[in-house]
Amino acid sequence: MSESNRQPRIMLIYTGGTIGMIEDAVSHSLRPFDFSHLIDNVPKIKMLNYVIDNISFNPPIDSSDMNPAHWVQIAQAIERHYASYDGFVVLHGTDTMAYSASALSFMLENLRKPVIITGSQLPIGEVRTDGEENLITALQIAAAADRHGTPLVQEVAILFENYLWRGNRSTKMSADNFNAFKSNNYPSLAKIGLGINFNEDALYRLPHDRGPLRCHYELDRGVMVIDLFPGIERHILEHQLATPGVKGIVLKTYGAGNAPTVDWFNEAIRRAVERGIVILNVTQCVNGAVHKRYASGDALAASGVVLGRDITVEAAITKMMFLFGMGLDASHVRRALSHPICGEMSQN
Ligand code: ASP
Repeated sequence: MSESNRQPRIMLIYTGGTIGMIEDAVSHSLRPFDFSHLIDNVPKIKMLNYVIDNISFNPPIDSSDMNPAHWVQIAQAIERHYASYDGFVVLHGTDTMAYSASALSFMLENLRKPVIITGSQLPIGEVRTDGEENLITALQIAAAADRHGTPLVQEVAILFENYLWRGNRSTKMSADNFNAFKSNNYPSLAKIGLGINFNEDALYRLPHDRGPLRCHYELDRGVMVIDLFPGIERHILEHQLATPGVKGIVLKTYGAGNAPTVDWFNEAIRRAVERGIVILNVTQCVNGAVHKRYASGDALAASGVVLGRDITVEAAITKMMFLFGMGLDASHVRRALSHPICGEMSQN
């Protein structure tokens, strides 16, 4: 049997989320349920004629409970089975899916196989569920290869309803719509309609052969997000900047990276940077980038705040966890934040 017509081998990693939830008989709220319930509801899977093995979180979780220890569990499962499978599908709650996708993209260095994350807005047991279609399409994408057997997707991606998005560019955009995700600053990797149409120019490729998969398991949680708003109080901001144990802060600013120009504000930021805190300037806007345009942004840059360009908050915070987890000092983290590692932001 040639490489291109052998049965695809996919590893399915079930972490939880709405896709596998059932309604509690007493409270009527949704809670995670076991993998066999989920898979029993998708008999069509057999029509794919793939070899599909699975690993399940025990117990499966609502993704609001997701934390770096869970990302390590997912990455370890991928590393352990990397050589034996053509692709990986991770079933995950939608709430923190973009964070997990971003974290995994940094943790799985030199990834050359598809890691497709999906879930659903309605549980798989419901009549109008989006879970069945999402699961089946995710499996097909994880199995997609060219005629030499080379995987089409060689990165962590989110499949949801009609689109495949780069994981570390994605954001959950809707709590209700079936098209719940979007990458606001990067084109879709594929459009799903009657067929799956890949956008080949957008797919990530390692710039050169950088060797085998290398997994990173150290993530430093000494990071936080500060969101600006008009009227932010001086003592509250100073308190936040002086939070014990914080090494890195994602500062969500206005528009193209702008912040109040009052002296106390810039002084507080400058002092935090001098104390060795790494601050990354990321826009509150869902689309567009932080760049040098207004004096109100220049002052931040002059204080040593790093320009986050078009990175998402999800990618920014997990990139910081990853960089500090590598044991880098503040100046090296600042430098690394200015450059893309695996397609998470534009070059300039
Ligand atoms: N709360 C759920 C979760 O993130 C929501 C979902 O899966 O859509 O696990």
